[in-house]
Amino acid sequence: MTMSHLPSRLPRQIRPVAGEGLTSFIERLATANHIKTSYLRRYLVDPPWSWNGSPSWERLAAVVGREPSSLKKILLSRQCVACGVVTFQPVGGSPRQTCSQACRQEAYRRRNPKPQKEENTQPAQAAARS
Ligand SMILES: [Zn+2]
Repeated sequence: MTMSHLPSRLPRQIRPVAGEGLTSFIERLATANHIKTSYLRRYLVDPPWSWNGSPSWERLAAVVGREPSSLKKILLSRQCVACGVVTFQPVGGSPRQTCSQACRQEAYRRRNPKPQKEENTQPAQAAARS
């Protein structure tokens, strides 16, 4: 049984933003085409349709005229929190937030700043100058 009938392209296309995620992309796509997000979401679920089904990448890719694998890569990619580089996420991999070991340390340092050094807290010296 070959029922691989994919939906046709939507009239208005938007550019997927790296790392924005599936939900955000579908919301923007629905808005651009003046349709309800809930309607579009359901439309993208593989038959048999249900309200709690997850949208199919193949159907989503078909309505935007893109390759499912490349669309998935773009939407599910992560942006490095330290340097801003967009890193592609291996499917099923751990949700890393940084692109390299150096950035991982940088992000850690930002989250856990060292206590201020004692030399920086000398209001007496500034007061004495004036
Ligand atoms: Zn980085």
